[in-house]
Amino acid sequence: MGPGPSDVAPRVLASLARPTIGHLDPLFVALMDEIKELLQYAFQTSNELTLPISAPGSAGMEACFVNLLSPGDTAIVCQNGVFGGRMRENVERCGATAIMVEDDWGKPVDPQKVEAALKKHPEASVLAFVHAETSTGTRSDGATLCKLGHAHDTLVIMDTVTSLGGIELKVDDWGADAVYSGSQKCLSCVPGISPVTFSPRAVERIQARSHKVQSWFLDMQLVMGYWGGDSKRAYHHTAPVNALYALHETLVILKEEGLANAISRHSKNHRALVAGLEAMGLKMAVDEAWRLPQLNSVCIPEGVNDAQVRSRLLRDFDLEIGAGLGALAGKTWRIGLMGHASRERNVILCLNALETALKAEKFTLESGAAVQAATDFYQSM
Ligand code: PLP
Repeated sequence: MGPGPSDVAPRVLASLARPTIGHLDPLFVALMDEIKELLQYAFQTSNELTLPISAPGSAGMEACFVNLLSPGDTAIVCQNGVFGGRMRENVERCGATAIMVEDDWGKPVDPQKVEAALKKHPEASVLAFVHAETSTGTRSDGATLCKLGHAHDTLVIMDTVTSLGGIELKVDDWGADAVYSGSQKCLSCVPGISPVTFSPRAVERIQARSHKVQSWFLDMQLVMGYWGGDSKRAYHHTAPVNALYALHETLVILKEEGLANAISRHSKNHRALVAGLEAMGLKMAVDEAWRLPQLNSVCIPEGVNDAQVRSRLLRDFDLEIGAGLGALAGKTWRIGLMGHASRERNVILCLNALETALKAEKFTLESGAAVQAATDFYQSM
């Protein structure tokens, strides 16, 4: 129950043990087509260029920046946590200029500040933001930010590493142009795969490039030769065949449950957890409107030893929760309820375990109140 990787479903783990076949085997090519279709469903897009990059979320991030930016370009980058900072690194390593729009950690990206930056920098060709900031447990308004980017003629890069499969994400309706995610959060697949999707506008920009993409491996024009639409697939790299079996199985599970049901399951378990945490006397770190159901940031109460509580949970309950990062280190815990791990059983386990660990820290609380509040919530549904 940390910030990811989340628990992998037994069906997905079993799929990893299927016999490894060639990455150009006709059966594997058919599986690739199914993965593309299932990813289009998860991203809610009809983008033809939708595929899993054979590397973790950071590679998906890098793929978006290196393909859409050239030296001398300008990008507006929103930062309200760790990952906006990583975006800035990417922009600068492309030889482009990053105009930073900063918000406090734990607050959403402020659309007014973004609009002001877009007006001040009409030369910007890209707007980039993190939809679900894992470092703080904060959602930003994806629909509004995409709309702003388009109104000012930029392509929009959106990080959905923690949002895909956990909260509403509508790539086509919102008009996001380059979107990347990770396999290890709300999809509950093994880590190491990064689903990406590029809009036709983004593909046009990529095809019109005069400057070679600095990364051979992530150059989408080359990757398209392997994952592209026509049936003649050419070798680009040896795909992680078994990890892609797992991704396929994960996406089949998502389709079977239905995206809307998965999203409402995340929301329900989050509300139960919050009811329990508040009954224990703990405070959430993020305003209700912007909380991520899949990653719950909780303020560590005064006098409670952060590391001691987390090690007790791990040692005595086999339960991992995340520490705060960066500006929130030592101030918050991050409790994940992602994908397969977003279940009533985990909510109750976590509340029980946390109550025991907090009592050991001499934190005053009413015994049993947390589990009671969560149980009452479930029963009221
Ligand atoms: N973006 C966000 C919002 C993340 O949470 C993460 C990882 O946690 C990444 C990017 C990088 O993904 P990875 O660690 O899979 O490279």
